[in-house]
Amino acid sequence: MGVSSGEPVGLGLDLGGSSIKYAVLVGDGAEVRIERTGLHEIVGARDAATVSRMLGEIASELATEFGGSVTLGIGLPGLFDAESGVPTLLPNFPPDWVGYPLRDQVQLATGMSVQLINDARAFALAEARLGAARGARNAICVVLGTGVGGGVILNGELWFGAGTGGEVGHQTVELDGPPCGCGNRGCVEAIAGSAALLAGAGRATVREVFEAARRGDAQAQAAITRSIRAVAAGLGNAYAVLAAEVFVIGGGIADAGDQVLVPLREELRSRMHLAPAETVSLRPAELGRFAGAVGAALFGARGVALH
Ligand SMILES: [Zn+2]
Repeated sequence: MGVSSGEPVGLGLDLGGSSIKYAVLVGDGAEVRIERTGLHEIVGARDAATVSRMLGEIASELATEFGGSVTLGIGLPGLFDAESGVPTLLPNFPPDWVGYPLRDQVQLATGMSVQLINDARAFALAEARLGAARGARNAICVVLGTGVGGGVILNGELWFGAGTGGEVGHQTVELDGPPCGCGNRGCVEAIAGSAALLAGAGRATVREVFEAARRGDAQAQAAITRSIRAVAAGLGNAYAVLAAEVFVIGGGIADAGDQVLVPLREELRSRMHLAPAETVSLRPAELGRFAGAVGAALFGARGVALH
């Protein structure tokens, strides 16, 4: 439907705590377009077998509709073993997910070639190919939300290193700082993630924190400043090692726009002394809440279709 015959189709699914977002990409290596995005709520059981079946059903329905040569990428809010396609850490899902053969199960159910990717790495890939970091050779991308996820583009390619490369949010920025979900202390995420922001501001939602700060609430302002300083320190550290020319900031906290971006730029400049500040551009993400699904689709099609 709406797709000229023979064009490769890349499906991307982005697994979140309460929904599965999807994106359909169409095109070849020279030109890729986002054909459709959408969302399915996860209602009821969230065990691995049930949700895995749901992932397969969504992919199969889209494949039937769009046809052609179809690949599938799945973005996960956690970590997995790349070789076996088995999740190793999914903090927001029941424990039975760890060790579940997710990639193989979805592959079996759909008959598609399936690739898994961390959701923040998928966000980075999408912003690098089709969004705010388009054309940049080196970029550091950060998702500011419940967690602080990240992804790094080096020489035009998403960087994985030995597997988990790009975890900008798990750099230590306070040596004896608060404990982090990863087991370390003083990570950017432990200080700048939304749980820390809400606790510091004494508010129930991120939106309330930023509204209170705009009205002059000192506690909210201090909590925001603390978060921003931690993120800036992390970005400054990453810059010192990688010298990327573009930073991309996305996620729920970044939705506050200039209330985050302006002080973050300022704080980052105060920490960057190795290169002129003008050589670096800090930009808001462009692809919105479906960036993860788009990136998963791009990754799923890697080396097969699209690119
Ligand atoms: Zn951590």
